[in-house]
Amino acid sequence: MKIVLASNNAGKLAELQTLLAPLGMTLVRQSELNIPEAAEPFKTFVENALAKARHAAQLSGMPALADDAGLCVDAFGGQPGVDTAFYATRFGYPKGDDTNVTALLAQMQGIANRRAAMASSLVAVRSADDPEPLIAVGRVVVQITPERRGTNGFGFDPVMLLPEFGKTFAELPPEVKNAHSHRGRAAQAMLALMRERWLGSAVP
Ligand code: IMP
Repeated sequence: MKIVLASNNAGKLAELQTLLAPLGMTLVRQSELNIPEAAEPFKTFVENALAKARHAAQLSGMPALADDAGLCVDAFGGQPGVDTAFYATRFGYPKGDDTNVTALLAQMQGIANRRAAMASSLVAVRSADDPEPLIAVGRVVVQITPERRGTNGFGFDPVMLLPEFGKTFAELPPEVKNAHSHRGRAAQAMLALMRERWLGSAVP
Protein backbone atom coordinates (compact mmCIF):
# COMPACT_ATOMS: atom_id res chain seq x y z
CA MET A 1 0.00 0.00 0.00
CA LYS A 2 1.21 3.52 -0.79
CA ILE A 3 0.49 6.25 1.67
CA VAL A 4 1.26 9.97 1.46
CA LEU A 5 3.30 11.42 4.29
CA ALA A 6 1.96 14.90 5.04
CA SER A 7 5.39 16.28 5.88
CA ASN A 8 8.53 17.26 4.01
CA ASN A 9 10.80 16.70 7.00
CA ALA A 10 13.50 14.25 5.87
CA GLY A 11 14.25 13.19 9.47
CA LYS A 12 10.63 12.25 10.13
CA LEU A 13 10.32 10.43 6.80
CA ALA A 14 13.35 8.25 7.52
CA GLU A 15 12.11 7.38 11.01
CA LEU A 16 8.52 6.66 9.96
CA GLN A 17 9.63 4.60 6.96
CA THR A 18 11.64 2.35 9.28
CA LEU A 19 8.95 2.22 11.95
CA LEU A 20 6.17 1.29 9.50
CA ALA A 21 8.32 -1.13 7.46
CA PRO A 22 6.69 -4.21 9.05
CA LEU A 23 3.44 -3.30 7.28
CA GLY A 24 5.07 -3.22 3.84
CA MET A 25 3.81 0.32 3.25
CA THR A 26 5.62 2.81 1.07
CA LEU A 27 5.58 6.38 2.29
CA VAL A 28 5.56 9.03 -0.42
CA ARG A 29 6.50 12.54 0.65
CA GLN A 30 3.79 15.05 -0.24
CA SER A 31 6.31 17.32 -1.97
CA GLU A 32 6.92 14.52 -4.52
CA LEU A 33 3.26 14.94 -5.49
CA ASN A 34 3.53 18.75 -5.53
CA ILE A 35 1.26 19.03 -2.51
CA PRO A 36 1.89 22.25 -0.56
CA GLU A 37 2.08 22.25 3.22
CA ALA A 38 -1.25 22.57 5.02
CA ALA A 39 -2.06 25.35 7.47
CA GLU A 40 -1.61 24.30 11.12
CA PRO A 41 -3.83 26.77 12.96
CA PHE A 42 -4.80 24.64 15.96
CA LYS A 43 -3.68 24.55 19.60
CA THR A 44 -3.17 20.79 19.88
CA PHE A 45 -0.89 18.36 18.07
CA VAL A 46 -3.72 16.00 17.23
CA GLU A 47 -5.85 18.69 15.56
CA ASN A 48 -2.93 19.88 13.46
CA ALA A 49 -1.98 16.33 12.46
CA LEU A 50 -5.57 15.64 11.40
CA ALA A 51 -5.65 18.84 9.33
CA LYS A 52 -2.37 17.88 7.61
CA ALA A 53 -3.50 14.31 6.90
CA ARG A 54 -6.87 15.42 5.47
CA HIS A 55 -5.20 18.02 3.28
CA ALA A 56 -2.72 15.49 1.82
CA ALA A 57 -5.48 12.90 1.25
CA GLN A 58 -7.69 15.49 -0.43
CA LEU A 59 -5.01 16.61 -2.87
CA SER A 60 -3.52 13.17 -3.59
CA GLY A 61 -6.62 10.96 -3.58
CA MET A 62 -4.53 8.51 -1.51
CA PRO A 63 -4.47 7.46 2.15
CA ALA A 64 -2.39 9.88 4.18
CA LEU A 65 -0.35 9.91 7.38
CA ALA A 66 0.66 13.01 9.32
CA ASP A 67 2.83 13.56 12.37
CA ASP A 68 2.67 16.69 14.47
CA ALA A 69 5.31 16.89 17.14
CA GLY A 70 6.75 19.39 19.54
CA LEU A 71 8.57 20.15 22.73
CA CYS A 72 6.67 20.83 25.96
CA VAL A 73 8.96 22.36 28.56
CA ASP A 74 7.88 22.13 32.22
CA ALA A 75 9.49 25.44 33.15
CA PHE A 76 7.57 27.16 30.33
CA GLY A 77 4.18 25.74 31.34
CA GLY A 78 4.29 23.17 28.52
CA GLN A 79 5.27 25.61 25.77
CA PRO A 80 6.34 25.92 22.95
CA GLY A 81 4.12 22.92 22.07
CA VAL A 82 2.48 23.25 18.67
CA ASP A 83 4.63 26.33 17.93
CA THR A 84 7.91 24.45 18.39
CA ALA A 85 8.97 24.62 14.73
CA PHE A 86 8.83 28.45 14.94
CA TYR A 87 10.30 28.77 18.44
CA ALA A 88 13.53 30.50 17.34
CA THR A 89 11.63 33.19 15.44
CA ARG A 90 10.21 34.50 18.75
CA PHE A 91 13.72 35.64 19.63
CA GLY A 92 14.68 37.12 16.28
CA TYR A 93 16.45 34.06 14.83
CA PRO A 94 15.51 32.55 11.47
CA LYS A 95 13.34 29.40 11.55
CA GLY A 96 15.45 26.23 11.73
CA ASP A 97 16.55 23.29 13.86
CA ASP A 98 19.90 24.79 14.81
CA THR A 99 18.50 28.20 15.71
CA ASN A 100 15.74 26.49 17.71
CA VAL A 101 18.35 24.72 19.84
CA THR A 102 20.34 27.95 20.27
CA ALA A 103 17.20 29.81 21.40
CA LEU A 104 16.17 27.03 23.78
CA LEU A 105 19.58 26.84 25.46
CA ALA A 106 19.59 30.63 25.89
CA GLN A 107 16.08 30.66 27.39
CA MET A 108 16.93 27.78 29.75
CA GLN A 109 20.02 29.48 31.17
CA GLY A 110 19.82 29.64 34.96
CA ILE A 111 16.70 27.44 35.11
CA ALA A 112 17.13 24.44 37.41
CA ASN A 113 14.07 22.44 36.28
CA ARG A 114 15.18 21.14 32.87
CA ARG A 115 12.44 18.53 32.48
CA ALA A 116 10.53 18.47 29.19
CA ALA A 117 8.51 16.10 27.06
CA MET A 118 8.60 15.55 23.33
CA ALA A 119 5.13 14.69 22.08
CA SER A 120 4.06 13.16 18.79
CA SER A 121 0.56 12.72 17.39
CA LEU A 122 0.21 10.49 14.35
CA VAL A 123 -3.02 10.61 12.39
CA ALA A 124 -3.88 8.43 9.37
CA VAL A 125 -6.90 8.75 7.10
CA ARG A 126 -8.06 6.56 4.20
CA SER A 127 -9.58 9.62 2.49
CA ALA A 128 -10.14 13.29 3.24
CA ASP A 129 -13.64 12.50 4.54
CA ASP A 130 -12.67 9.44 6.58
CA PRO A 131 -15.01 9.51 9.62
CA GLU A 132 -12.66 7.26 11.60
CA PRO A 133 -9.14 8.65 11.46
CA LEU A 134 -6.56 6.47 13.17
CA ILE A 135 -4.98 8.44 16.03
CA ALA A 136 -1.88 7.40 17.95
CA VAL A 137 0.07 9.47 20.43
CA GLY A 138 3.47 9.02 22.05
CA ARG A 139 5.63 11.01 24.42
CA VAL A 140 9.03 10.78 26.02
CA VAL A 141 10.25 12.65 29.08
CA VAL A 142 13.75 14.13 28.74
CA GLN A 143 16.14 16.48 30.49
CA ILE A 144 17.40 19.41 28.42
CA THR A 145 21.20 19.41 28.52
CA PRO A 146 23.09 22.70 28.97
CA GLU A 147 24.93 22.17 25.67
CA ARG A 148 24.68 20.10 22.45
CA ARG A 149 25.86 16.47 22.56
CA GLY A 150 26.02 14.08 19.58
CA THR A 151 25.34 14.32 15.88
CA ASN A 152 22.59 11.78 15.12
CA GLY A 153 18.95 12.62 14.52
CA PHE A 154 17.53 16.08 13.95
CA GLY A 155 15.71 18.94 15.67
CA PHE A 156 16.29 19.04 19.42
CA ASP A 157 17.94 15.59 19.55
CA PRO A 158 21.38 16.99 20.58
CA VAL A 159 19.93 18.51 23.78
CA MET A 160 17.36 15.83 24.68
CA LEU A 161 18.88 13.60 27.34
CA LEU A 162 17.28 10.27 28.18
CA PRO A 163 17.92 9.77 31.89
CA GLU A 164 17.87 5.94 31.59
CA PHE A 165 20.77 6.02 29.07
CA GLY A 166 22.59 9.12 30.30
CA LYS A 167 22.81 10.09 26.61
CA THR A 168 21.04 12.46 24.25
CA PHE A 169 19.04 11.12 21.32
CA ALA A 170 21.80 12.49 19.10
CA GLU A 171 24.34 10.26 20.90
CA LEU A 172 22.23 7.12 20.51
CA PRO A 173 21.92 4.95 17.38
CA PRO A 174 18.71 5.48 15.35
CA GLU A 175 17.24 2.13 16.41
CA VAL A 176 17.57 3.07 20.08
CA LYS A 177 15.95 6.46 19.43
CA ASN A 178 13.12 4.75 17.53
CA ALA A 179 12.53 2.31 20.40
CA HIS A 180 12.24 5.06 23.01
CA SER A 181 11.18 8.26 21.25
CA HIS A 182 7.81 10.00 21.22
CA ARG A 183 7.46 9.16 17.49
CA GLY A 184 8.61 5.57 17.98
CA ARG A 185 5.99 5.04 20.66
CA ALA A 186 3.25 6.67 18.59
CA ALA A 187 4.30 4.59 15.55
CA GLN A 188 4.04 1.31 17.49
CA ALA A 189 0.48 2.22 18.46
CA MET A 190 -0.27 3.29 14.86
CA LEU A 191 1.08 -0.03 13.52
CA ALA A 192 -1.35 -1.93 15.72
CA LEU A 193 -4.25 0.29 14.64
CA MET A 194 -3.45 -0.04 10.94
CA ARG A 195 -3.14 -3.80 11.24
CA GLU A 196 -6.45 -4.11 13.01
CA ARG A 197 -8.50 -1.48 11.20
CA TRP A 198 -7.06 -1.19 7.69
CA LEU A 199 -5.47 -4.57 7.12
CA GLY A 200 -8.06 -6.62 9.02
CA SER A 201 -5.68 -8.43 11.34
CA ALA A 202 -4.78 -7.98 14.98
CA VAL A 203 -1.71 -10.23 14.74
CA PRO A 204 1.57 -9.65 12.84
P1 IMP B 1 6.74 19.52 13.29
O1 IMP B 1 5.90 18.44 13.86
O2 IMP B 1 7.34 19.15 11.96
O3 IMP B 1 6.02 20.84 13.28
O4 IMP B 1 8.00 19.66 14.23
C1 IMP B 1 8.01 20.47 15.38
C2 IMP B 1 9.40 20.74 15.87
O5 IMP B 1 9.82 19.67 16.69
C3 IMP B 1 10.47 20.96 14.81
O6 IMP B 1 11.26 22.02 15.25
C4 IMP B 1 11.24 19.65 14.81
O7 IMP B 1 12.58 19.84 14.48
C5 IMP B 1 11.09 19.22 16.26
N1 IMP B 1 11.08 17.76 16.31
C6 IMP B 1 10.12 16.94 15.80
N2 IMP B 1 10.45 15.66 16.00
C7 IMP B 1 11.65 15.67 16.65
C8 IMP B 1 12.52 14.63 17.10
O8 IMP B 1 12.27 13.43 16.93
N3 IMP B 1 13.63 15.03 17.74
C9 IMP B 1 13.94 16.34 17.95
N4 IMP B 1 13.19 17.34 17.51
C10 IMP B 1 12.05 17.00 16.86
